[in-house]
Amino acid sequence: MFEGITRGLSDALKKLRGRGRLTADNIREGLREVRRALLEADVNFTVVNDFIGKVETKAVGQDVLARIDPSEQIIKIVYDELVALMGPVDHKIPQRGDRPVVLMLCGLQGSGKTTTSAKLAVTLKAAGRKPMLVAADLQRPGAVEQLQTLGTQIGVPVYSERTNPVETCKNGVAEAKKTLCDVVILDTAGRLQIDDALMNELKQIDRLVKPDQVLLVVDAMIGQEAANVAKAFNDALELNGCILTKLDGDARGGAALSIKGVTGVQIKFIGTGEKVDKLDEFVPERMAGRIMG
Ligand code: GDP
Repeated sequence: MFEGITRGLSDALKKLRGRGRLTADNIREGLREVRRALLEADVNFTVVNDFIGKVETKAVGQDVLARIDPSEQIIKIVYDELVALMGPVDHKIPQRGDRPVVLMLCGLQGSGKTTTSAKLAVTLKAAGRKPMLVAADLQRPGAVEQLQTLGTQIGVPVYSERTNPVETCKNGVAEAKKTLCDVVILDTAGRLQIDDALMNELKQIDRLVKPDQVLLVVDAMIGQEAANVAKAFNDALELNGCILTKLDGDARGGAALSIKGVTGVQIKFIGTGEKVDKLDEFVPERMAGRIMG
């Protein structure tokens, strides 16, 4: 998926590599290429400018000119800055003795919330936890049935009722406590775009249920627009993290780099396929490696 960035970056770095000695000018020229590669990969403009500024300051500050192979040094600086931009990440899902931990998943319709709820349940179950899924998406036709089917498939209980989303979440958490589940995943409703009705519903659930973590599910295919979506949700709900889906598709990588840069919200997990076992921890070093090619 990162072909765009990777090709652009390696071309830029190849140009630097060819020169025995680097000057401040051709470092700048090389970084211009890096900048272009990032913009072409649909990374947010401000994030790109900050990033290039940091790399340049470090490159110049580390006396690149004196090194035998300065291009390697710049490659290392670009890699380190990519890692710094996307990290650090805390993957831990908290645990409590007195009540189930509540994870609230939110996001736009079609982002992969329902699928990701099930994937997260699979991951938690494999780690020895006892998850419960709550079908609180009463907006998208078929969402409740979809979660029920997934629940049966993965052997995780699904709580649902046809009242309203806020009641469903509240009662779902009570049911989880009663049945000794230790983690509850709320699959909330999305809309095709952010609107007040969606945000008000989510804020109500947030106020009443007080989730331990609010996680935004966002589709990597929307590129840097992901950062705007994350900002809107973060302003309304104070996100604890993001889960970036569809990284198996041909997304150009802009979302991965833009979200943290724009909002400060960390990406915790990534979705890499439609199947329920296709959820991985987000590891900035691994992603930076992929981006660098
Ligand atoms: P929701 O409306 O946010 O609940 O979205 P769904 O969970 O129904 O997902 C929408 C579509 O995206 C479905 O066809 C999913 O199979 C698909 N999907 C979800 N996550 C991934 C992923 O990581 N990779 C791929 N390729 N497809 C995904």
